[in-house]
Amino acid sequence: MVGLSEVHDVALARLREADQRYTGNRRLLVEALAAAGAPLTINEILDDRTDLAQSSAYRNLAVLEDAGVVHRIVTSSDHARFELTEAVTGAHHHHLVCTECGVVLDMTLPDELEHLLHEALTNVADQATFHGEHHRIDLLGQCAACV
Ligand SMILES: [Zn+2]
Ligand SMILES: [Zn+2]
Ligand SMILES: [Zn+2]
Repeated sequence: MVGLSEVHDVALARLREADQRYTGNRRLLVEALAAAGAPLTINEILDDRTDLAQSSAYRNLAVLEDAGVVHRIVTSSDHARFELTEAVTGAHHHHLVCTECGVVLDMTLPDELEHLLHEALTNVADQATFHGEHHRIDLLGQCAACV
């Protein structure tokens, strides 16, 4: 995981590329996600920040998502969860998604397993003449509280 100033640098560069400004509210959203270290719902992001209206937070998250700063994880619950993209954090990982309560846990696999996974996926992709670059694999099931 990179430091907060690097996170802001990458976020700024990506927003500029998308012709967007890195406003104070967008910085606050990025900071909340960086501090959490786990995917958050909009309510969790806004927790003790009554200065950020929910509608404007949604708009800003959409801008950050379009710019490749924020990744939105769709779950079976009504509330999507948000985290910084791997391009921003430099940390590749997977997710455990609870289909009961919608909680999402980050999961890091051993390097060896990532390597095998990547090889297997790119081999299959090759056969479909598809140029694979990176993967996203989430495991769905029930969390400890819902089993
Ligand atoms: Zn659960
Ligand atoms: Zn994650
Ligand atoms: Zn992986």
